[in-house]
Amino acid sequence: MNSLGEATLGELAQALRGELIRPDDPGYEQARSIWNGAHDRRPALVVRCEGVADVLKTVEFARSEGLPLSIRGGGHSIPGFSTVDDGVVLDLRAMNGIRVDPDRRTVTAQAGCLWSEVDAETQAFGLALTGGIISTTGIGGFTLGGGIGWLVRKCGLTCDNLIAADIVTADGQYLHTSEDERPELLWALRGGGGNFGVVTSMEFRLHEVGPTIFGGLVFYAGEHAEQVLHGFRQATAGAPDDLTALINLTTAPPAPFLPEAVHGKPIVGVGAMWAGRPEDGDAATRPLRGLAPVIADLFGPMPYVALQGLLDPLYPRGMWNYFRSAFFEDLDAATGAVVNAFHNVPNALCEVHVHHLGGAMGRVPSGATAFGTRDREFILNVVARTPDANGYPDVVAWARDTTDALGPDAASYVNFTGEAGEDRVRASYPKDTYERLVTVKDRYDPTNLFRLNQNIQPSTTARR
Ligand SMILES: Cc1cc2nc3c(=O)[nH]c(=O)nc-3n(C[C@H](O)[C@H](O)[C@H](O)COP(=O)(O)OP(=O)(O)OC[C@H]3O[C@@H](n4cnc5c(N)ncnc54)[C@H](O)[C@@H]3O)c2cc1C
Repeated sequence: MNSLGEATLGELAQALRGELIRPDDPGYEQARSIWNGAHDRRPALVVRCEGVADVLKTVEFARSEGLPLSIRGGGHSIPGFSTVDDGVVLDLRAMNGIRVDPDRRTVTAQAGCLWSEVDAETQAFGLALTGGIISTTGIGGFTLGGGIGWLVRKCGLTCDNLIAADIVTADGQYLHTSEDERPELLWALRGGGGNFGVVTSMEFRLHEVGPTIFGGLVFYAGEHAEQVLHGFRQATAGAPDDLTALINLTTAPPAPFLPEAVHGKPIVGVGAMWAGRPEDGDAATRPLRGLAPVIADLFGPMPYVALQGLLDPLYPRGMWNYFRSAFFEDLDAATGAVVNAFHNVPNALCEVHVHHLGGAMGRVPSGATAFGTRDREFILNVVARTPDANGYPDVVAWARDTTDALGPDAASYVNFTGEAGEDRVRASYPKDTYERLVTVKDRYDPTNLFRLNQNIQPSTTARR
């Protein structure tokens, strides 16, 4: 490890409350791994921070030793930003305290929390905010990139509900930001990713949701994909904010809720959540549940937390994953490209998702947060996977072709982007938003210590 001496490391280890893990330590293999198996990296050390003091010391250590610094919350980064060869991983997972204030309808959560943890605490009071459709995702990277989930039309993006945060900046300051204090920093955290420092804690606005909601999935045969997509377009047009829906064009898993005859065959799943009164949910979701002959209809009343964890088993840790996304407006016009990608899917693990957006998310003005793409009604998320390295380049090429078919310049979403690169980052923000993010970056991280992310380069290092 560079010229880093044992003495320096020993000092850090002694100063920490949390654990410092090095390549020879027994827990190293587990500590270095992240959800996406495609990123098999070997950090020089992993620091499991127990509190803000550990974060301050770790940031100072990485900066003074000139080591690459990777920030990890839930470890679900698709491009592998939460691990790094020969650098420092600052792991926040042990910082998972949560405090709900039912009167003010807010929750303050440390940045190492997962959605399953935040949902469990907020649902004890019949409250929630937009979280991920997979409950093992971390709230940190998810919120800072935006946050699209089953409540996006009712409550907006997760970052729209972020009302304050604590952050450790590159120069070792511990700052608070809210709409009254350093509002420009809060603006940047609402969609600008992990560019500005280590967020240690976040405060969110909550909404009345559940504990019982109406939701689920309905499945149609793959041969009806085109009809289902057109029908989905009609069923979602003018839908109330309480209804959030998505389509998954996939291959039927050998799941007990699907007839054996369809296992391994192309299948179209339509998922939805009705966040209004559960007794109104059946009628509200009906238009989505008769788009073609139905193979299985799993809609019904269920706990909100059950819906949040429903899809978890389908996205296991360790596979090689690559995601690519494109916002778009006209689903009827895009249907040909989506169906074509589905018919040419390179393996049974690859999927094409279409999320219906708009609602509360769409009503926030584009410049109000760093998440600027608000005016498109849909987002395509192409999920390309292989069990291991075999065939990975082919699925990556398929994912790229699929989003490019919607127009190579379509805006993309930083959280559904499987690669790093300035072109992808610029494609994720309107030009004026990007320039404003550079100004905030210049102020809080002018040397780009925090560069393992969808990187906003400070003007001192950026290409002109
Ligand atoms: C299975 C799966 C399902 C997903 N589902 C959804 C979904 O439904 N909706 C959606 O919008 N997205 C979804 N995503 C994408 C997800 O939002 C991003 O992958 C996000 O980065 C994950 O956050 P994390 O904290 O788990 O990631 P990590 O890998 O821990 O962090 C990713 C990066 O975010 C930054 N970061 C994280 N925490 C902090 C912090 N505290 N301070 C500063 N920077 C930080 C760092 O740059 C870090 O490297 C999904 C991803 C996966 C793998």
